[in-house]
Amino acid sequence: MMKSMKTSIMMKNTMTTKKNKPLRKCIGCNEMKEKHLLIRIAKISDDEFQFDESGKINGRGAYICKNKECLEKAMKNKGLERSFKCKISIDLYDRLEQELRTYEA
Ligand SMILES: [Zn+2]
Repeated sequence: MMKSMKTSIMMKNTMTTKKNKPLRKCIGCNEMKEKHLLIRIAKISDDEFQFDESGKINGRGAYICKNKECLEKAMKNKGLERSFKCKISIDLYDRLEQELRTYEA
């Protein structure tokens, strides 16, 4: 009895640690992650998108984990389409995949 109470309090403490780190949602896995773990994709014109390492490119942005799996998930669940509210061509996904490779650890 006492033991289980203690465990639940400990869990609560780790859940509520305040760190104020900005969290962004990955369009692939839909998980909230710290910004630096994700890459921002910025929409720079009607049909042009760019990885935005600095996070300072103007325009609508979406975030994705630095891995191919999440890009594939984003393709399947149309995360980019939903974020940018426009149609995303297969070409763009190809390009993003290629660019993403350079970020993969
Ligand atoms: Zn992800």
